[in-house]
Amino acid sequence: MSNTLKPFHTFGIDVSAQHIVIADSAADIVSAWQSAQSAQQPALIVGEGSNLLFLDDFSGTVILNRIEGIRIEEDSNNWLLHVGAGENWHHLVEFTLQQGIPGLENLALIPGCVGSSPIQNIGAYGREIKDVCAYVDCINLQTSEVFRLNAEQCQFAYRDSIFKHEYKDRVAIVAVGFQLPKQWVPLITYGDLTQLAKDSVTPQQIFDAVCHMRRTKLPDPAIQGNAGSFFKNPVVDTLTTETLIQHYPTIPHYPQLDGSVKLAAGWLIDQCGLKGSRVGGAAVHQKQALVLVNDDNATSEDVVRLAHKVRQLVGEKFNVWLEPEVRFIGRQGEVSAVETIA
Ligand code: NAP
Repeated sequence: MSNTLKPFHTFGIDVSAQHIVIADSAADIVSAWQSAQSAQQPALIVGEGSNLLFLDDFSGTVILNRIEGIRIEEDSNNWLLHVGAGENWHHLVEFTLQQGIPGLENLALIPGCVGSSPIQNIGAYGREIKDVCAYVDCINLQTSEVFRLNAEQCQFAYRDSIFKHEYKDRVAIVAVGFQLPKQWVPLITYGDLTQLAKDSVTPQQIFDAVCHMRRTKLPDPAIQGNAGSFFKNPVVDTLTTETLIQHYPTIPHYPQLDGSVKLAAGWLIDQCGLKGSRVGGAAVHQKQALVLVNDDNATSEDVVRLAHKVRQLVGEKFNVWLEPEVRFIGRQGEVSAVETIA
């Protein structure tokens, strides 16, 4: 028997899995994982499926992590939150603001759940999980041992962490701890946030501005399937940047602390005239070129062919080769996204 995955991932592509298990506890996750292993079938743990592209039907068990619970404690300087991995991310942001706890407002409206947030170190408008994460609680899928990693042990980097490498397919995230300073400092260096008054701005105003920017620029997955930014912003060396600036003086570029320079993938794609470009039912979003959308019953093949076209045209024009941020899932599990679209 197969089950549709359409409601369980935001790209809305019509694929199925052999089994779908809703897991409310760490024990449920391990049990479903081990059953799949015993049956020699693959297993995949999914939050809300907001950063995934299923290339095919999944020939195993998809385990939906639905562990709930938000616990709030405090010390003299910080709010300390312990949050179940299956809690919806945006709900957490709203809930903390309602409780008078600021710090997550720049990360409003990011699709997905709390347990997925450390995996790719989600970030928006200058704030990343690594800035607010105190710890991540995990369970070892083979041994059922529960253990805690502090933020440093998570090896957070740009849209990256230990969960994409050493711990991939070995652990499930069961909870995330956040430390939010009571001494709130607004972060208003991005986009429309720069218009806000530094001395009087409130967390709610930042939240509202972020929601407004996202709602006007980004497609709502409930209406038009997508997985957010399809490509990572490329990080290049200074020599490459200087050459690009000579040819394209207006190219947006953001120097990083380590001496490298981050480019805006959306701008590169837009310069190739790709906004609105289509392959089958897949399209480059009209307002934000970094997002590929399921416009009209797209197949995963449509999305892959479109992503290949985008990578190819950007590469040929700028000699910068984009890599997907979205994770690609084949019949047996995750596959290399770069190799799939190269
Ligand atoms: P944008 O403001 O058009 O800027 C394009 C890119 O340039 C951004 O992605 C951002 O990189 C970088 N950038 C812009 N202002 C910057 C600054 N002051 N300092 C350093 N870097 C700067 O971007 P957007 O598409 O509307 O997105 C706004 C924010 O939401 C970004 O942070 C973006 O990453 C985030 N977002 C993420 C997703 C996702 O699926 N991952 C989807 C939509 C938006 P960074 O990405 O490194 O911030």
